Amino acid sequence: MVLLSLDIDGTLEVGDPPGWIPLTWIHRAKALGYLVGSASDRTMSDQKRLWERHEIEMDFIGHKHKLDIVRAKFPEATRWIHIGDGNADYIYAVEHGFEFYWVHEVPEDGTEGWIF
Ligand SMILES: [Mg+2]
Repeated sequence: MVLLSLDIDGTLEVGDPPGWIPLTWIHRAKALGYLVGSASDRTMSDQKRLWERHEIEMDFIGHKHKLDIVRAKFPEATRWIHIGDGNADYIYAVEHGFEFYWVHEVPEDGTEGWIF
């Protein structure tokens, strides 16, 4: 099972600044049975408000520097993936055993080994 962790600012279309990943991505991932959540520098309450506003039920909300907590919460996952646009995303993802993808280097749909 894939666990997909998304940075918000600079990564998602609702971020500040906006990134290119649309919210439909989250619905697609959820429809495939993936665990999906956000891991950002934003406060938990700010992230909660964001997802409430967009009527999206995330499987988790966390902080990118605490991806180890997200990982520990879902031991049933077999792949832990974080997508972000900053060095902190890269550093913490790798440190906490996540596969990391830069938002501008996400594989195209259908690429072998990719989640879509
Ligand atoms: Mg960011």
